[in-house]
Amino acid sequence: MGIVNIGILAHVDAGKTTLTERILFETGFIKALGSVDKGTTQTDTLALERSRGITIQAAVASFQLHTHTINLIDTPGHADFIAEVERSLRILDGVVLVISAVEGVQPQTRRLVHAIRAARLPLLIFINKIDRIGARDQGVLNDIRQKLDLRIVPCTAPTGLGERSATVTAADRTASAWQEPVIDLLAETNEQVIAEFERTDGQLSQEFITAALCRAVVDGEVVPVYFGSAITGVGVPALLAGIEEWLATDSVPAGEPVSGLIFKITRKGSGEKVAYIRLFTGHLAVRQRVILHRQNRFGETEAFEERITGIDRFTAGTANQAEQASAGEIVIAHGLRTAQIGDYFGEATAWALRQGRAFPAPALESVVQPNDPAQIAQLRTALEQMAEQDPLIALRQRNDAGEVSVRLYGEVQKEVLLDTLAQEYGIGVTFGPSQTICIERLVGTGEAASYIGHPDNPFYATIAFQIAPARPDSGLHYSRELGSLPPAFYRAIEETIHETLKQGLLGWEVPDCAVTLTTTGYSSPLSTAADFRNLVPLVLMEAMHRAGTLVCEPFDELLLDIPADTYGAVCSAVLNARGTLQDTQTDGETSRLVCLIPTAELRAIEQQLPRLTRGDGGWESHFAAYIPITTTPPARERVGPNPLNRPHYLAEIARL
Ligand code: GDP
Repeated sequence: MGIVNIGILAHVDAGKTTLTERILFETGFIKALGSVDKGTTQTDTLALERSRGITIQAAVASFQLHTHTINLIDTPGHADFIAEVERSLRILDGVVLVISAVEGVQPQTRRLVHAIRAARLPLLIFINKIDRIGARDQGVLNDIRQKLDLRIVPCTAPTGLGERSATVTAADRTASAWQEPVIDLLAETNEQVIAEFERTDGQLSQEFITAALCRAVVDGEVVPVYFGSAITGVGVPALLAGIEEWLATDSVPAGEPVSGLIFKITRKGSGEKVAYIRLFTGHLAVRQRVILHRQNRFGETEAFEERITGIDRFTAGTANQAEQASAGEIVIAHGLRTAQIGDYFGEATAWALRQGRAFPAPALESVVQPNDPAQIAQLRTALEQMAEQDPLIALRQRNDAGEVSVRLYGEVQKEVLLDTLAQEYGIGVTFGPSQTICIERLVGTGEAASYIGHPDNPFYATIAFQIAPARPDSGLHYSRELGSLPPAFYRAIEETIHETLKQGLLGWEVPDCAVTLTTTGYSSPLSTAADFRNLVPLVLMEAMHRAGTLVCEPFDELLLDIPADTYGAVCSAVLNARGTLQDTQTDGETSRLVCLIPTAELRAIEQQLPRLTRGDGGWESHFAAYIPITTTPPARERVGPNPLNRPHYLAEIARL
């Protein structure tokens, strides 16, 4: 019996939740249909999701298709949660993408398809809402081909579009009208198909076509498309048959040592931490010891030995206690106290480490304040717990008063944090306005040194650094010239360099630079690691001050497909938003624009685009680069003792 883990993905409102509910009903997993409009669905777990009608944290439901168990991993639809979608792709075997027959391909659909293709997952498309007025078939198919650049094979066709009684008929796969375009598609990437075509003089057997098509679908090269209505249920049985035919391909290797990936962490009401694991190979049993692997910020793999104290398996959709679990399954493990999202155990197979696309860090931050100042410590603890459950929530203590700021993708994420803090932790909070997070880049090379015994240096440590620019996105290049400090001191120096670079001359992080430790000295037995920790910020920041930095702002590349006659209006909106036009192509009635736009302005532009393009525009954006700010650069409030102000720094260090 095989296990297949599937995600249903869609832009908001395409009908993902309704389809999930319908599938669970059709397969007998639930006895009554819930409704998103009434807030009674199975998969939206958080109360908040119910009230907002959006799905946030991936929930698991499962059903049986003949001999296969299909786990449905419900994923969020809102753009602010795309990072969570990408994370959940790593544990899937295939994806069903829902597109509305009325609204068609949306900007969010493109982002999802990019992520799915980057993860090289098999994909099926369900064109939903064929019963709704305004439903289209050929138009949507063409959009999928052109805007999503997908090679598709329609497996059903709708009749009675736009009527409640709309229905679907299965494509006749023996008809040449179906086979010919399929053979053409397959021949584009599969030379065997061309060879077989020549060998049989164009008379390919249906078995051959099906087998080649199945391979192409599994490789994510060809996408079967189904029409239907999640509300009336039409077309859903055909989709289920499609899931079984194309996605349930029993590829889980058996009998190997256990390997798995932790993709979600939650805490139970009692505070106990539980880890969601996708098992790739082997078996996992209660009381088993596992070694969790994790990459630390120095690029080294750290190992943590832990013991599993309990396993919950998803059988018949609910999590039930079990003694063991095996390859392919998604389980909840108890007892992994140090586990973090992204930890894996067992062989680091390519599968387990499937990363998908590298995802840019959130570009916004906002200060969070408890409405009741007495709750500041509770707020910190709550946010720390939430950050543990979502690695993309990054905290920063803003000042000595304990004010905290969080990194964000957008406003919806803010609302979710606000509601979660209120409902799960009983803390009412207010967010300040979102601000763009900049970085600093070095302009030149700088050097600085401080020696034991010098009147300026109250620490038993000698250090000299050289700091120089490094290629964007290349991170910190740390090297040291000959010296013979005890290893603990070297470690202290390296850790403090990382910490110090979080705040450059104007308070922004300095992500890319080359730091060389050129001179060291200590005095035995007086020197301690703390002497080095305290001295590093002073010397490094002095070197940075000599090198100079430029504050750089994040920019996104915005790709737009718009009606040619709206070009002028769209261009001026882009320019008004401090954007620049990189490229334009006009093809008949459609113009394609490539723009660079400050990430801070993106949301505002995206909100104007439907109006500017009369609803006919399509666009997508992704992080492009950090670009230097040529006007007065913004500064960020500094946290902790300020090494750029030596007296203040020394006084603060003495106080701590
Ligand atoms: P999600 O945001 O993708 O999860 O979408 P939902 O399942 O919440 O559906 C969004 C809205 O579309 C709800 O009002 C649904 O009742 C409606 N809807 C979903 N599927 C269909 C369908 O097949 N036909 C019609 N007419 N409405 C649908």
